[in-house]
Amino acid sequence: MAPFSSLVRSLHRRLLSPENSTPRLLRRCLSASASEGGSATTSASASASAAGYNVGGSTSFMRGVVFYEPGRPLSIEEFQMPRPKAGELLIKTKACGVCHSDLHVMKGELPFSSPCVIGHEITGEVLEYGAHTDGGVKQRFPIGSQVVGAFIMPCGNCFYCVKGQEDLCEPFFAYNRAKGTLYDGETRLFLRNGKPVYMYSMGGLAEYCVVPANALAVLPKTLPYTESAILGCAVFTAYGAMRHAAEMRAGDSVAVIGVGGVGSSCIQIAKAFGASEVIAVDILDEKLTNAKLLGATHTVNAKKEDAVEKIKEITDGRGVDVAVEALGKALTFEQCTKSVRDGGKAVMIGLAATNVVGQIDITRLVRRQVKIIGSYGARARQDLPQIVKLAETGIFNLKNTISRKCTIEEANSAYDDLDKGKIVGRAVVEIS
Ligand SMILES: [Zn+2]
Ligand SMILES: [Zn+2]
Repeated sequence: MAPFSSLVRSLHRRLLSPENSTPRLLRRCLSASASEGGSATTSASASASAAGYNVGGSTSFMRGVVFYEPGRPLSIEEFQMPRPKAGELLIKTKACGVCHSDLHVMKGELPFSSPCVIGHEITGEVLEYGAHTDGGVKQRFPIGSQVVGAFIMPCGNCFYCVKGQEDLCEPFFAYNRAKGTLYDGETRLFLRNGKPVYMYSMGGLAEYCVVPANALAVLPKTLPYTESAILGCAVFTAYGAMRHAAEMRAGDSVAVIGVGGVGSSCIQIAKAFGASEVIAVDILDEKLTNAKLLGATHTVNAKKEDAVEKIKEITDGRGVDVAVEALGKALTFEQCTKSVRDGGKAVMIGLAATNVVGQIDITRLVRRQVKIIGSYGARARQDLPQIVKLAETGIFNLKNTISRKCTIEEANSAYDDLDKGKIVGRAVVEIS
């Protein structure tokens, strides 16, 4: 982990650099020239841009939601305007989804560097490129374009990225998930007083965020910012599970265990891929009713019925071709493995608290060739544009998946309600 002291030192160097005294108007011009980049960017303009920064000439600071420690409510803090580096974009955040992974961090169930800005499911507007960003990136994402960000931000160059398995990107896990930074080992987030703050993915619950270009896809103007935020995690995860882990084919029968934000996206993606039956399993009738609206052909309330027996009953006693577990619990892990037919695929997408272990009947696994497959997110550059197309054509209905819209001030209570199971689909924080 990059120690705080070294981050503070590097910040001090920046604050004390002579460029920091550059007059504001000049800084704005230099910053603009750096953003246009290319051969015209001089080292002087790049360093001036790195020291003093104004977006649209109006502000040098932003607000962001900070998690300090489990049990302490999230707080809204003032930050210095974050600075993108090469290959990164500064995004004016428009919306950010409220996801269970953030909650795992907030409850201390998944260790993560703190203080950090949570939120990893964003849409926004492109404002600025880091100096020396490739021209191709600028062409794909013109200033002012609408974008959606994937929570897995692939480096594009590691062993796995080169193989096309961006969902296993080594630097993403080694730096972002393990250290809360981007891939130079540094965060882009500093409080107004200079204190560094870590980033969960891009640190999306803030007015601005820095996102590596590899994690972005253009969002057409026809798609709304708020509803589209879920494309970068909930739908992304569902798509990866069905496309890459389950390798779903038209006609497959599917069961989804846990139909909250990600699970309800799984229902829609399964339908989009041509599922014959989609069985939604949950313990809340409200969620099951919503699952029906999204295309579930059958619903099972696991509090009132035996989920495995019911799934077998619906599938002529065999079990489904594909079962997806979206909760990360030992009990539902087992239900998932028992719900699939011989040779079927049990796909696990629910993150569990550290050290939670799932059980499996080994002999059945061997003799009946059950496949248990873990799946985390999807492949940003290949999959995110496809996901956007599904939403654009209306095959994926964004509106029915969002059950609550709130402000940045209400983020804390949205996570509280998510924890209490009070959010039927997905809550999204609107950030203006
Ligand atoms: Zn998420
Ligand atoms: Zn990589």
